[in-house]
Amino acid sequence: MTTPVWTPAWDRTEGERRARDLFVATYGAAPEGVWSAPGRVNLIGEHTDYNGGLALPIALPHRTYAAVARRDDDVVRLVSAQEPSGVREVRLADAAPGAVGGWAAYVVGVAWALREAGHAVGGFDLAIDSCVPFGAGLSSSAALEASVAVALDALHGLGLAGTVDAAGAATDDAGRATLAAVCVRAENEMAGAPTGGMDQAASLRARAGHALLLDCRDGAVRHVPFDLAAHGLALLVVDTRAEHSHVDGEYAQRRAACEEAARRLGVGSLRDVADDPRGDAWALEALAATPDGEALVPRVRHVVSEIARVTAFVAALDADAVEAVGPLMDASHASLRDDYAVSCRELDVAVDAARAAGARGARMTGGGFGGSAIALVGADDVAGVAGAVAAAFAERGLAAPAFAVAVAAPPAG
Ligand code: ADP
Ligand code: MG
Repeated sequence: MTTPVWTPAWDRTEGERRARDLFVATYGAAPEGVWSAPGRVNLIGEHTDYNGGLALPIALPHRTYAAVARRDDDVVRLVSAQEPSGVREVRLADAAPGAVGGWAAYVVGVAWALREAGHAVGGFDLAIDSCVPFGAGLSSSAALEASVAVALDALHGLGLAGTVDAAGAATDDAGRATLAAVCVRAENEMAGAPTGGMDQAASLRARAGHALLLDCRDGAVRHVPFDLAAHGLALLVVDTRAEHSHVDGEYAQRRAACEEAARRLGVGSLRDVADDPRGDAWALEALAATPDGEALVPRVRHVVSEIARVTAFVAALDADAVEAVGPLMDASHASLRDDYAVSCRELDVAVDAARAAGARGARMTGGGFGGSAIALVGADDVAGVAGAVAAAFAERGLAAPAFAVAVAAPPAG
């Protein structure tokens, strides 16, 4: 059996020390503080967020740590242990969509979007270190944005982030919803990635021990108890290490297809089809009758069925029937692979191998085209399933995947 490679989460002390050390080594002074924000894994509800649908992410124990100190001018200096390019320097006055390239766009974008929202935010020095797998569909981008957002909130006394209590619950959800919207603007307009709002909501608004039921139509959330260990189960994350990029055209194309379908159906978003008491058959027939509408049919079928699967998943959790979520995960993967066409060979190999090794359910998670898969496994089977997936990759000559165990962790703070 191939020995699996694990990506452990740092504990808070280690993460804070690393960011602080990088800050001191880079700028020769101490930061005013260290803030952090988690990556996320989505349990179900994929490509639904930009359709006004439902999603169900949890915050990961893997976090991005930001050591920050204010400056007297409007310069942002930034360095990241994950980016070997050294220190970058950007003036906030020059920040505008398209004006800042690379990873700095996510950071400067948050300050820019806060200013656009009327908050007085000045320059700062920043050092980043992170154990969130990078570009792995686990939302390192939102973790980066949210760590900066809560740092600037605290340093400028914006009063939006509130605090996180000992149970891992945020005290001010409304303020965090505002910060999440700021982070979405940073990602959409400054980094140029047309993602929906799920990632930022998960990083800022999730609760430890709970999944976050996010209604992307109005931004409402409900915290659904999610404790797999109590059921003798665990959530295995497989980072396929396959290339993916949201900035790529594929994601934008799917989003555009959904918007076009909604337009042709005369609805505000595909959520309206999901909520239609008539079901979705009328919509699929109507679309098929439009010029080249056949191509839109499977896309809409995925979105509508995926929203229904989120509802069913939550109902199973509410009923303490956790085993029932496995088949929903399987169905979600099939829909993403066949109808939405966003899976890839590595994701399919990971999912198939995990199931063959005894997983109760498995699916790709995140935007697709690479990134990560998740598998619901018996708590005692974690190592065995990981070993089987690693072996399946090795047999096919695929680069070794990395593994993590996900538990629902606290939000940014
Ligand atoms: P994901 O969010 O799934 O990890 P994305 O492609 O959305 O993947 O975001 C990855 C990008 O976010 C990176 O290419 C980089 O620009 C930025 N990023 C994320 N984490 C860091 C970090 N620790 N340091 C610097 N940049 C980061
Ligand atoms: Mg991202």
